[in-house]
Amino acid sequence: MSLQVVRGRELKPPSRPGRTEPDARSGSKTSQESPIPRIGKAASPASGKTLLRFPVGEETRAFYRRFYPGTTTAEWNDWHWQFQARIRNLEMLEKVFVLAEDERLAASRHKGPLPVGITPYYASLMSREDASEPLRRTHVISTKEDIVLPGESIDPLDEDHDTAAPGIVHRYPDRVLFLTTGTCSTYCRYCTRARAVGNPGGEYQFSPKQWEKGLAYLEAHTEVRDVLLSGGDPLSIADDKLDWLLTRLRAMKHIEFLRIGSKIPMVLPQRITKAFVKMLKKHHPLFMSIHVTHPRELTPETTEALNRLADAGVPLGSQTVVMKGINDDISIMKPLMQGLLKRRVRPYYLYQTDPVRGSGHFRTTVDAGLKIIEGLRGFTTGYATPIFAVDAPGGGGKIQIAPDMVVGRDGDDLLLKNFEGKVYRYPDPLGTLGSDKPKPKLPAE
Ligand code: SF4
Repeated sequence: MSLQVVRGRELKPPSRPGRTEPDARSGSKTSQESPIPRIGKAASPASGKTLLRFPVGEETRAFYRRFYPGTTTAEWNDWHWQFQARIRNLEMLEKVFVLAEDERLAASRHKGPLPVGITPYYASLMSREDASEPLRRTHVISTKEDIVLPGESIDPLDEDHDTAAPGIVHRYPDRVLFLTTGTCSTYCRYCTRARAVGNPGGEYQFSPKQWEKGLAYLEAHTEVRDVLLSGGDPLSIADDKLDWLLTRLRAMKHIEFLRIGSKIPMVLPQRITKAFVKMLKKHHPLFMSIHVTHPRELTPETTEALNRLADAGVPLGSQTVVMKGINDDISIMKPLMQGLLKRRVRPYYLYQTDPVRGSGHFRTTVDAGLKIIEGLRGFTTGYATPIFAVDAPGGGGKIQIAPDMVVGRDGDDLLLKNFEGKVYRYPDPLGTLGSDKPKPKLPAE
């Protein structure tokens, strides 16, 4: 592996791959080998002191006392503990949930990528009895995933086609997606990269050794000014490795800013330690796009994690997939967007669910997403109104879908509709916008 001199010091890739990366400690186990750990010993006094400062919501506290008796608050707040204790198989699911028959069947026979994976913290937000509860539906496997509908594919965005170097998807002119890991702390059942995540030793494994190939590509492609680190979840990577990667990217003068896409602040907020945000601060300008699903995720824990990131000067944006029966209603989306904004997260994208194989039960109509935007725009703060987009199957990229507010044209006037549906004139004598529309019937003035 080549070494590079950065800012006057020799930069070596981290040499202790298993020391702090949780999945490296637990990833070799098969799902059959991981009972719910009952951890009775206290965390080290030094780390415990820090960890205890992380809040624990009432509902979550009652959950862990019931299902993880003997676990201390310091242990519960240790992200490594959360990672190791993930619910990964039928036996563990049955200890926490009253499973529906289709969940039980799907969990008993699942093999390959996109395994079951739920942090105990995230499980504490889910319904124990109700299989239709939104957060539970997004993470507990179901036989509905076996139904493949027309137009679905294992790589709906054709990312493999746009892969320019291992882990580097180069689709847009000045920016790339850098797939850094195949590991996530939790596995979302609608994941666009279901083919690639959670499969140790599989085709899509990434490592610091392989990162070198991606870094070599970026060094050669000086037109790239923006790198989005994704995966898997880059925040599942240990601090020292991520620091190393960010440092290498920062050393490239043509890369103007970095972004990290992550769901971890919502599903494993304890990961956002003070040491971690201190490390991130070294790499500004560094943005973070946080994958958020439902207002139930806005807990004292996630609030603390978001505060830490925002206080470290990391501009935060959200990405939300619109899903049937989960969040495809303005009564869910409005409090979610407003709640994010209150926590200094700018709602950024609403996505139509990608047609990934077996995701039909999550997909709603594009009209539903548009209706949500219509219910937000004008009715709440503009900052709380995200962009609604369809990521075009076949690699077309994100295509924005917005309500059409242009009614037409009347002579020199452009006719525009406001958020309440009222029509207004704008003097635009030299313009042509709206002239292709049939002349609207206007109320007598
Ligand atoms: S966290 Fe992201 S990459 Fe991981 S399973 Fe969920 S959607 Fe996929």
